[in-house]
Formats: sequence, C-alpha cells, structure tokens
Amino acid sequence: MTTPNPTRTICPYCGVGCGLEALPPALPGKAVNRDKEGTPIWQVRGDRAHPSSQGMVCVKGATVAESLHKDRLLHPMMRDSLHEPFRRVSWDEALERIVSRIQTVRATQGPDALCMYGSGQFNTEDYYVAQKLMKGFLGSNNFDANSRLCMSSAVSAYIQSFGSDGPPCCYEDLDLTDCAFIVGANAAECHPIIFNRFRKHHKQDKTTRLIVVDPRKTQTAEAADLHLAIKPGTDIDLFNGLAYLLLYRGYMDSVFVSKHTNHFTAFAEVFEHYPPDVVAARCGVSVEDLETAAHYWGESERVLSMWSMGINQSSEGTAKARSLINLHLMTGQIGKPGAGPFSLTGQPNAMGGREAGGLSHLLPGYRSIHDPQHREEVEEFWGLEPGQIFPTPGRTTWDMITGLENGEVGFFWIAATNPVVSLPDADRVKRALLRSPFTVYQECYYPTETSAYAHILLPAAQWSEAPGTMTNSERRVTLGNQFRTPPGEARADWVIFADVGRRLGFLKPFTFNSAAEVYAEFVQLTRDRPCDMTGISHDRLRHEGPLQWPCSQAEAEAEAARDEPGGIRLPSFMRQLVKPSVSQVPAKRLYTDLRFHTPDGRANFAAYHSRGLAEPPDDDYPYVLTTGRLYGHWHTQTRTGRVEKIRQMYDGPFLEIHPRDAEAVGIKEGEPLEVRSRRGLARFPAKVTTAIAPGTVFVPMHWGELWADKAEANALTHPASCPDSKQPELKACAVQLRPVSPASDLVEEQLQSLPSQDLYPLPVTHYST
Ligand code: SF4
Repeated sequence: MTTPNPTRTICPYCGVGCGLEALPPALPGKAVNRDKEGTPIWQVRGDRAHPSSQGMVCVKGATVAESLHKDRLLHPMMRDSLHEPFRRVSWDEALERIVSRIQTVRATQGPDALCMYGSGQFNTEDYYVAQKLMKGFLGSNNFDANSRLCMSSAVSAYIQSFGSDGPPCCYEDLDLTDCAFIVGANAAECHPIIFNRFRKHHKQDKTTRLIVVDPRKTQTAEAADLHLAIKPGTDIDLFNGLAYLLLYRGYMDSVFVSKHTNHFTAFAEVFEHYPPDVVAARCGVSVEDLETAAHYWGESERVLSMWSMGINQSSEGTAKARSLINLHLMTGQIGKPGAGPFSLTGQPNAMGGREAGGLSHLLPGYRSIHDPQHREEVEEFWGLEPGQIFPTPGRTTWDMITGLENGEVGFFWIAATNPVVSLPDADRVKRALLRSPFTVYQECYYPTETSAYAHILLPAAQWSEAPGTMTNSERRVTLGNQFRTPPGEARADWVIFADVGRRLGFLKPFTFNSAAEVYAEFVQLTRDRPCDMTGISHDRLRHEGPLQWPCSQAEAEAEAARDEPGGIRLPSFMRQLVKPSVSQVPAKRLYTDLRFHTPDGRANFAAYHSRGLAEPPDDDYPYVLTTGRLYGHWHTQTRTGRVEKIRQMYDGPFLEIHPRDAEAVGIKEGEPLEVRSRRGLARFPAKVTTAIAPGTVFVPMHWGELWADKAEANALTHPASCPDSKQPELKACAVQLRPVSPASDLVEEQLQSLPSQDLYPLPVTHYST
C-alpha cells in the first residue's frame, strides 16, 4: 500500500499563514496516530512547498489536529431566555427563528438594530457572504470583526499614507534586509516563523542589524543588537525623534521626498520639537541609543520595519503607524527588496477580511462605505437598487456593545470569536450581553465564555472541515482544503449565512453550490482594484499552490500561456506535476514603481504630536498594565486550551513585575497579587523579573473564566480607541497592585451578578475524528 498524498492547507491560527500538510491518522505500515486519550488524530506537518513558511511550523500549527474533536458543538441549540437551559433544535427551527427575528427587528427598529460580529478566523468566503447579506441585502453596515481589535489601525494608516490598504512587503524581505526595526511586536513568540526566518539571515550576515522597541525585554528583544525599552505610550515621541536625527545626521532621501511624497514640511514642523534630549527623557532611553538607532537606520540600504499590537492597539494607533511610515518615506525605504513598513497580521485571515470588506466602514475589493462610487459599483454588482447600501459606516465592535446597553441593538449575531474574553472592559461587555434581547452565537466549540450569553447556538464547521481561502500578511492566498467531515450537524459559516439569505427571500443572490463559486464571485469585485485577485481561483490554488496578489486575470492568462508551450492548456493533473518550485516563484511587493494609490500617486506624510496613553498612571492607579500573548496559546484558548502539549507549557496566568515594584508592593515570586483598574479587578501569581521595567506590569490575555479563576486581563482594560481606526487601547491601562487579602470580598460581589457557564451545561462532547 502506498502512503496517501497529504492534503495541503494553511495554519488556522495566526497571520503568518504557514502552509501545512495533513495526513490521515492511519498510514500504511505505521501505528495509528492517537492523542493522549487514544483518539485517532490526523498528522500535521509543515508544507515545504509553501513559499511563505517553507516547511516551518510552530507548536500551534503542529498540534492543531489535537483540538479538532474535543468539546465540539454538534447541533443547533436554543432557549428563550438566558435563564433557561438550551434545548436541541433542528437547523430549520433555529434558522426560521433567526429569520423571523431579523424581519421583526428590521421592521420595528430598522436595519441599524441588526449587528453581526465576525472573525479573522473566517475564510474569505465566509466574510464575503456575510457582507453581501448584511451590507447588501439587509441594508445594515453593522458588520464588524475581531480584526477591529487587531489590525484596524494598520488599515487606516496604509489608507491615509498610501491611498489604499495593503502591506507593501513580502517575507522574502526578511532574508534581504540590512536592518529590521521591530516595534510593538513580540515576533519571536507571536509570529515565530517570520522571526525565525529573519533570525537565520541575522545570524548569517553579521552586518544585519536588529532594533527592537518594546517596554519589555521579550524573547524578540533578547535577540536585538539594540533594544529600546521605551515607556509605554511614547512610540510617537521615538519616531519623531528618529526623524529629527535622520534629517540632521544627513540620512534623508530628498529626491524621494520631493518626487514621491506630499506634506513633508508639515511633518518637519512637528519633528523639530523632538530633539534627542527631549525624546530620551520622554521615552526613558539614552541619547546614545537614539543616535545608534538613527545610525543603524540611516546607514542601511534596506530597512524593514515590522509592527503589530503594540502599535495598533492604541488610542493613537493610526498616528503611531503613520509616524513609523513617515520614517520610511523620508529615507526612501519602500518599494524595493528588503525594505518597507510591514504590519504583522494577528488573525489568520484578517487580510482576507479586509479584502472582502469585513469591517463596518469597508466594502469588498478594498472599497469604502464613504465613497459613493464604491457603493454604486457594489450595488450594481449585487443587483441592488441605487442607494441600497447605507452611505455611512456601521457600528464598530464597541458601538455594538454600547448599542446593546442602550437598547438600540435588537439582533446580535456573533460568529467564530469569543468577545467576552477578548473585548476591553470585560465586565461591562458581560453586562451588555445580558441585556441583549437576541444573541446568536455561531461556534465550533462548546463551551466558550461567550456561549453563556447566547439565545441560539449554531454549530460551525471549522478548519479541515470546509474548503476556503485565507490571505496572510504578505498578501498570499492559500486554499485550505477540506479533509475531514464536519461533526454532528456542523456547517460552514458561509453556508449558514447563505441559508439565512435565501430564507429571507433573496434566493438567487445566495444560491452558491460551493465555496469555489463564492470565491469566484468575490474576486470579480476586486477587478482593477489594488487587491486585484481576478487571476486567483480555487482551482488554480489547488493545482498551483498559494498565490500573492495583485494577481489579475490578464496576468494569470499570460502566465498560463508562458507555462504551456504552443499555448496548449494542460489538464489540471498535468499542471500539478509541472508546477514551479518555491524558489522559482518571484515574490511580489507593492509600490515598486513608487506610485501610490493616492489621486496624485504620491505618498502622504503625517504630522502628529504624541498624546501618550489614554489612561496614564496617577496617584490612585500608579502602575501601567500592559497585555500580550505567549508562544503556545492563541487568544482566548478556544482551541489551544484543548491541546494537552500546549496546556503543559504553561502553569497558568501570571503577572510580570520588576523586583523593585514587587518589594514596594510587598509581594514575592509566586504569591498572588490583586490588580485593580477603574473598571474591574483580577488576580495573578507574581512573576518577579527584570525583563519588565519598573512602573509597568505585564499579563497575558489568554485566560478567561473557563481556564482560570478571576485572571482576565480584559477585566482591567478600557475601551478608549483610536479616533481613526476605532481600535481600542488594549495594550495599556492604569492599575493598582496589592497582595491578595482573604477579606477581598469585592471580587465575589462583582462576579456574583454574572452568569456562570455551569448554569447551562451541555454534556461535554469528545467527537471522534
Ligand atoms: Fe501557525 Fe502562525 Fe505558528 Fe505559522 S507561526 S504555524 S501560522 S501559528
């Protein structure tokens, strides 16, 4: 017997988008692969032919198959109020109830009372059908996704600086850069395959520099040639200070600035106020280190900056990202190999969501709700009446929560995300959800922290159980092929949305026979747009492997003709045999012609003064709490909490505190610490370490109520957001610290009013793969 061909797919965790190969549990001549409980599980390994990851994979991707059969939601469930237990219902009953509620709310409260909160874990096909349903046929722009918490500042920064969203770089730049500038990103833990690829180059080429900007001495910072441990919230001070030094040390590219940019004078008038001594004092770093950073940047032929949540999750997230982009523009570090500003995407398909219009101010094909022509184009394509798409952006994630609070939201549909743990000010979110008159929760797993707040539970198929595409940070689209049958009655997300669309009477627009058909329709909306994907199809991805956009139909046809001597179109099985190897596929970058998507083709400088933290420390709350992620866990642990190997990597939640602060608080290593903010409190064992600066403490955000007792990072955080991107400042808030006292009754009082998942138990189901 021969070994079966592995199924090629993409890792469903983070935006690095590593290629994976899956093999069945039982292979000829080998023992059946089983997890610790003895359940046969698929074997997953890195896909060497995937250009983004070249066979590399981290612990999350390598163990993903262990989570697929555990605690699955198998059937639709329903209840009339949150005080009742769920009862099993048919899909017909659940969907008819949803349709009836949508119709009632739309008729009585209007389309603005309908909200859907989706996820960067969606496939692009799921995103697309959801947009068509909500923004097109229901007339509500109230579709937002957890990408709002993740990448929306990067989106608005790219749009404002370059005229369009879209990270300009590619992973090949990691091998080519002379200077990597990583800011607000612990790439070694959170984007490990990207970091490993750069580290290989960094180790081989001793002239390559790594500058890391982070208040913590993270694993990423440990590898740096220069670590700038700035105070939280001083990123713009640093960037403006570097601009000052780059100008006065003679590193500015005046030709680039004059030929390809606008508004440099306004920018210069701002950074004039950021001389090194001022910046060093504000940021808490030395003048020498600032000079070194400017020297490394200025002397390098190719500078690649990378950023993530430390920049985006901020009340000035757009300003921070644009201020970083300024440095690339003033030194001409964009549009060439090894250089450019590169946002590291958090969610596996936040990029696909952006392409499909999956935020409340976007439409498919990198279009904007604000733009009348964009609305018209989409209306025409969807066969809608002119003016049917509402002309103003819908509710952002946090607006949905406040809408629940004041009774303006009558229908709330949550899919593939766990907002009870991931949104800021978690106790307020829980109280808002308790007021929701009708919440649908579409998920693969049960329980999650959010399922306690649902009226209807819909079982979703997940990774491996439905085909679909995802786009990673380097704009590369990969087809995740299906290789397992969905358990119970679980259905793909887009199938559920389309079914609701048809039941609402929109029969033709929501009749799709396959995910490939959905994708084929979606890419037509990208024609001649910056993210043109008309040359990409499921068929092409299946046979040729992952493809980067822009990839127009004309380009695809030209490539096909080149590949096929004599113009003969080979059958697909033959094309698979002659597909190019990884190294032969040229990587694509944006703006190599130095023309941007602005009306005049020039990139825009931005002029921002630093405003600092939305909630700075004060006498009452004297410490800055910063939150983040660990190598093994993914977000709220919905998957990784069910993987034994990953659970064993961590004892539980913890709080990093500097020895000086630990002494001041009167706490020793491992002792429990109570952390209070103006919104809530939580408890963590202390981890005393010099890796964190005095005055700042760090907690990971992974532990919700299901996984630990009162250790929710977001019980403490606040919802103050960037005015442009509306991304909340999840990264910093002011807190008090005190040793846990037995008489601390506020915790009990505070949480008693909240529902417990135990009140609504379903039998825990281990589905056999
Ligand atoms: Fe998956 Fe991200 Fe790890 Fe790659 S780096 S295997 S995409 S979690």
